[in-house]
Amino acid sequence: MNRYDMYRQFLAWTAPWDMIVVGGGATGVGVALDGAARGYRMLLLEQSDFGKGTSSRSTKLIHGGVRYLERGNISLVMEALKERGLLARNAPRLVRNLAFVVPNYDWWEAPFYGLGLKLYDLLAGKYGFGHSRLLSCEETLARLPTLKTEGLRGGIIYYDGQFDDARLLIQLAATAAAQGAVLLNYARVTGLMKSADDLIDGVCFQDIETGEEYTARARVVINAAGPFSDALRREADPSAEPMIAPSQGIHLVFDRSFLPGDSAILVPRTRDGRVLFAIPWLRHTVVGTTDTPVLEPVLEPIPTEQEIDFILETASLYLARKPTCADVLSVFAGIRPLVRSAQSGGTATLSRDHTIRIDPSGLVTICGGKWTTYRRMAEDCVDQAAMLARLPERPCRTADLAIDPPHEAATSARLHPDLPYTEAQVIWAAREEMARTVEDVLARRTRALFLNARAALAMAPRVAELLAGELGRDGRWKQEQVAAFRQIARNYLLS
Ligand SMILES: Cc1cc2nc3c(=O)[nH]c(=O)nc-3n(C[C@H](O)[C@H](O)[C@H](O)COP(=O)(O)OP(=O)(O)OC[C@H]3O[C@@H](n4cnc5c(N)ncnc54)[C@H](O)[C@@H]3O)c2cc1C
Repeated sequence: MNRYDMYRQFLAWTAPWDMIVVGGGATGVGVALDGAARGYRMLLLEQSDFGKGTSSRSTKLIHGGVRYLERGNISLVMEALKERGLLARNAPRLVRNLAFVVPNYDWWEAPFYGLGLKLYDLLAGKYGFGHSRLLSCEETLARLPTLKTEGLRGGIIYYDGQFDDARLLIQLAATAAAQGAVLLNYARVTGLMKSADDLIDGVCFQDIETGEEYTARARVVINAAGPFSDALRREADPSAEPMIAPSQGIHLVFDRSFLPGDSAILVPRTRDGRVLFAIPWLRHTVVGTTDTPVLEPVLEPIPTEQEIDFILETASLYLARKPTCADVLSVFAGIRPLVRSAQSGGTATLSRDHTIRIDPSGLVTICGGKWTTYRRMAEDCVDQAAMLARLPERPCRTADLAIDPPHEAATSARLHPDLPYTEAQVIWAAREEMARTVEDVLARRTRALFLNARAALAMAPRVAELLAGELGRDGRWKQEQVAAFRQIARNYLLS
């Protein structure tokens, strides 16, 4: 997957595309893959890098969502559990089975959560990841040696999926490209074009690198702009009522000593009635998340002090060693593109189901849902878009389509002693994964910024050097890249 080649393919195709997808997160890339696998001509445009939005900022779980079970949303859980099973089969090197332990400190917790998790097992059916069971106090501590022992009665173990969100996204994009989709990053959609009968039939976009403007026509335009979906809908119709209720969630990242085993912790009820996860991820510990309504989505959301305090406080109720700000290696925030509801209270209670809306202008918007359900969302969206555009009917092929496995970079010099990333990975990212900036490499092709922001800062000059060599850039570009990365990395540091 190479940007130069993508532009060449874009320019060579002069007929209208079957579908143009706006947004290169899980939703948009999923749609591009689904459509391309059916044989439709698909063009995807992402204003920044693939996954720059919410899709690189998740809790990294491919899960049914035990907490939706408590709300009685059985169909959502069943659908997500099925998708979890399909993804594990189609991308075995990208999704791993992770054990979660719910620690019990009250007598009623073992029967209550134990029963709920048995139902979770049952709903997974043939897509199950392993059976839940009660753990004694000793077994709980053997799995979670850093857990607070005072009042501990035991635990319940259950199984779910874990992944590296930005990595899966790049592999999905590569798979979509192999199926014939054209995907451009740093291509911002700046306007929508309408036909004589006032229906949307194309987009104007700008190549952010060169400033050049382009137009592209399509039988149907799909809005997969996540938290930014309403802005695009307003392009089509300035009076469009908003459909997104953006909600921010943050995570704190610590070193592995806070969770040295292979199991994660699920705190089933925090003081604000949510769940909290502490999970081992890429040899670090990730703890989150929060649910804070926000007014205007931004691409680089900033964690609030209250969110940080909340996670530190909640984690210290369960961990023998209290984590402090000084222990935080990185903090990252993301914005959920939740669908508004007339009767809902806070964003925490909003449904995680997805919604497809077709506006009178013919713009198809797909939003909501979860990373876990991206494939099913894409299937529904392409079905509806194809019908709307009167394209020949073709069945979905992604239920058993293998996703390209990640490339194993040749061993070469490490970029930092605290992280496993190598110079060869930077070069591969530039040549084959459309990485264009230092941030693309350090935030999404590798996860350095999300794991250890200081280490990522130290790596930036060398990454700029390597990228400049690959992309034919000069010394000034290198300096600007490092400065831009420093600016962004500041938001990932607490002290
Ligand atoms: C804190 C948090 C934790 C989560 N944890 C999980 C989890 O563990 N498991 C799970 O299944 N789900 C999880 N989710 C949900 C999941 O991450 C999201 O549902 C999913 O990533 C949304 O993807 P998206 O493609 O719709 O949006 P995004 O990833 O935000 O993609 C939208 C893209 O559109 C682009 N765009 C916007 N406007 C334009 C334009 N004009 N031109 C071109 N491009 C444009 C943006 O740049 C962006 O990249 C979590 C979400 C959050 C916030």
